[in-house]
Amino acid sequence: MTTAALHPKRLVVLVDGMADEGRDTPLCLAHTPCMDLLARLGRTGLLRTIPPGYPPGSEAGILSILGYDLSRCFPGRGALEAVGLGVDLRPSDVAFRCNLVHVDASGRLADYAAGGITTGEAAQLASALQQSLGGGRVRFLAGTEHRLLLLLADGMPGVRCVSPLDALRRPLLSSLPAGHSPDAALLRSLVLRSREVLEGHEVNRLRRLRGLPTANAIWPYGPGHCPVLPPLSALHPALRTGAVVAAPGLVRGIGRCAGLRVPDVPGATGGYDTDYAAKAGAALRALQVEDFVLLHVEAADTAGHEGDRERKRLVLEDVDRLVVRPLYDELARWSQPVTLVVLPDHATPCSLRVHTAAPVPYLVWRRGIGPDGATAFNEEAVARCHPRADEAAVAAPGRTVGAVQGISVLEL
Ligand SMILES: [Zn+2]
Repeated sequence: MTTAALHPKRLVVLVDGMADEGRDTPLCLAHTPCMDLLARLGRTGLLRTIPPGYPPGSEAGILSILGYDLSRCFPGRGALEAVGLGVDLRPSDVAFRCNLVHVDASGRLADYAAGGITTGEAAQLASALQQSLGGGRVRFLAGTEHRLLLLLADGMPGVRCVSPLDALRRPLLSSLPAGHSPDAALLRSLVLRSREVLEGHEVNRLRRLRGLPTANAIWPYGPGHCPVLPPLSALHPALRTGAVVAAPGLVRGIGRCAGLRVPDVPGATGGYDTDYAAKAGAALRALQVEDFVLLHVEAADTAGHEGDRERKRLVLEDVDRLVVRPLYDELARWSQPVTLVVLPDHATPCSLRVHTAAPVPYLVWRRGIGPDGATAFNEEAVARCHPRADEAAVAAPGRTVGAVQGISVLEL
């Protein structure tokens, strides 16, 4: 084998929202023999993935884990998702993530994802929104499930939007896009007019008949212009090429903006029904040709938002059995040095049903790495091994406190 072929590689399994809080977390209760084995063989630690002052969420978490300094580049979620969906944003476009949500009879936000609306249903609603409210500066685009996009041509900054995850059970009228600009007024009017367009739509009539929550309002948030990021290889010269295996538009968009290849994986949905084996296979195929692969799994975050501890435990067991185990079995046989990292981008505690910025556990394994004494991979076992809270590393270099100073998790 040539020297070039032995260039060290790195595979990051990013389990969205995996971390939880309190005692007996889903990760503590889950039967995850492979992650536990890797924690015993490798290194573990606590990592602050959300730098102080940034909203806890996948955009800040993933960009920080990749090593981006958010004070220099923090694109809005909507723009990253637009790139992930392959939308050509013009420099003057402002892209908003635009959820289809359910507002209950008392006018409160009851469901940030409109009761698990399907991609097919959502596409029909996006097209109705475009027909009734689109045109001129406004464009609605379908994404996956409840995740639409709203593009505002020649948009101006200055609109303040609340994530629907932070507005659950609050009155819609108290959480509308805020600001005095004409764009803020336009967005407020779009939200209110969307209720009339959606309420009477055939998709919602059928959902009502089936006893399902309707998608009866839009919720725009996360505005951003076309993102400009330095390529990942500029931050980590050893990682010359890379790929992202992911379903959600946000993560795919981050991959594209970071100059990484983003293959399509049939069966990868981002939901509970995602084809884990197909994603693991795609990650291994990508790692044969790339220096770096990020494999993203969404479902644990969804279970956290649903407050469903049992579902989250089962998702983590699936991830261990169907993703981490086959990856480890295969990589342990490779002659090429490969580092395997498993971590979440942020915590999504089931008791809170929102993201938090608390430090999350990570594990790093490669052949020959010296173990650090962790006995299992979960919040408690890792904290026992690293008892000083201030030893939590911060993901992005240059914004670091604690013992693992300045070292990105991509370089551990
Ligand atoms: Zn989430």
